[in-house]
Amino acid sequence: MEYRIVAEMAEPGGGTLKEWHMVRPDAVVAMCGRELDMSEKSLPSDAWGTERARPFCHTCGALFLREVPHGA
Ligand SMILES: [Zn+2]
Repeated sequence: MEYRIVAEMAEPGGGTLKEWHMVRPDAVVAMCGRELDMSEKSLPSDAWGTERARPFCHTCGALFLREVPHGA
């Protein structure tokens, strides 16, 4: 399992995207603590910082940066 990015929808079960959150391997909530529907759309963690993964949860982004240093 790897980090992944899971969509938070504006309404349960679909509709429009609210924002993306980062989820730790095997976690059942986002890094920021938000409970997500893990069956929603997801992206690989390397989509973080790209146009595909916007808007992105600021809390998750900050935690992910600290936890997973890039360019290492
Ligand atoms: Zn988040």
